[in-house]
Amino acid sequence: MPVSPFQIYALLPKTNCKKCGYTCMGFAAALASMEAEPEACPELLKPEFAENLKKIKELLPKGEKAETGLIITEERCIGCGVCVVVCEENRTNVEIAAGKGPRLGDAAVLRVENGVIKLVTPERCKRALKTPVFCRACVEHCPTGAIELVG
Ligand code: SF4
Ligand code: SF4
Ligand code: SF4
Repeated sequence: MPVSPFQIYALLPKTNCKKCGYTCMGFAAALASMEAEPEACPELLKPEFAENLKKIKELLPKGEKAETGLIITEERCIGCGVCVVVCEENRTNVEIAAGKGPRLGDAAVLRVENGVIKLVTPERCKRALKTPVFCRACVEHCPTGAIELVG
């Protein structure tokens, strides 16, 4: 049975600070539909919410990761981070939108790890949302052709 957003909401900090890009109720709905990751709420990463975070993860659907159609050729990646800052899903984080790399613990679709790009949360890519959005910003801005689209 699908998880109810109200079950998730009960475990959220309920401050409505919108650091996740939603109100708490909106975030609960986004989590239930696999359009957000619990780590996008910085409050949930605090030690006092560790138990709530664990319970939320247990409640969330364990569906297969959606297909993005993106193919990364790591050998071509020079780790410039351009794709990280042009990705609109990443840019919901104001620091990334300002050109900084995601910090440890920040939710991100794409991030450079050890000098190479990684698609760390493919399910948050616009192409993989329940209602997919045709996006190819990372593909078009990569200077080396390290990200391509299949199909
Ligand atoms: S960041 Fe967390 S506390 Fe703030 S609105 Fe989002 S879910 Fe609520
Ligand atoms: S296709 Fe768009 S949403 Fe998906 S990772 Fe690339 S830039 Fe981000
Ligand atoms: S995939 Fe392309 S744009 Fe992204 S970090 Fe690697 S070289 Fe830069």
